[in-house]
Amino acid sequence: MVEFDLIDDPTTPSLPSEVWEGSLAWPMTLTMQAEFQRFYDCVVQGNRRANLTRILEPMDFWEKHLWDSLRGVLPFLSGEVPLPDSPRLVDIGTGGGFPGIPLAIARPDWSLTLLDSTQKKVRFLQAAIAHLQLSQVQAIAGRAETLGALRPYRGGYDVALLRAVAAPSVCLGYARSWLKPGGWAVLYRGQWRDEEQEDLQQGLQGFELVTIDAFVTPQTQATRHSVMLRRLSSG
Ligand code: SAH
Repeated sequence: MVEFDLIDDPTTPSLPSEVWEGSLAWPMTLTMQAEFQRFYDCVVQGNRRANLTRILEPMDFWEKHLWDSLRGVLPFLSGEVPLPDSPRLVDIGTGGGFPGIPLAIARPDWSLTLLDSTQKKVRFLQAAIAHLQLSQVQAIAGRAETLGALRPYRGGYDVALLRAVAAPSVCLGYARSWLKPGGWAVLYRGQWRDEEQEDLQQGLQGFELVTIDAFVTPQTQATRHSVMLRRLSSG
């Protein structure tokens, strides 16, 4: 039996669509929305065999997984912070594919590596990538600190994304070896307290803190922070 036999299941509830309007400064197309619905369908099915997420109710999934994944890198999406052509991104500790898969759907021209240490989650992601035909995305199993020391991963990436993985300094420790000089680390955080700021300062070697973008989610007004750092050429 195939472990993750994903299908388009018309009985999966519909994600809200009107909520995109005005909530994100990004031109969301109907094609992208249809792909988000197919990915949601995959997660609902995959969650029966792997512990991917507790956030499954359609509005919650939209806000906390889809909207949140895109909002954290809005400066890249909007072009306010330019990336090289055909950038290479790694989503470290991607879990059920967040923020990596929503980004891959929004930006099919970006290349994405999804990394997680849990084999089962990665097998789900590989099935979802094949089902959604996301040809520029690969999912690999392993630990960030181990694979980041090896070719072709070491120094190979323009952006490292980390959402809900570890303390800020630990996240930077993971991202450090994957990034090219001048590459970006983006930490998706909820609250940003003094403890987090202090912890970040401790772990900053080799990085420059560029911005801490604070915002609230559009449905439940939950606090979020997107912390953007740049990899220096030394350190
Ligand atoms: N980014 C996802 C998942 C967060 S849970 C989201 O926001 O929904 C954290 C994930 O990181 C787990 O799936 C865990 O398996 C993975 N993880 C933790 N430490 C890791 C490491 N050192 N290397 C790779 N993956 C790791």
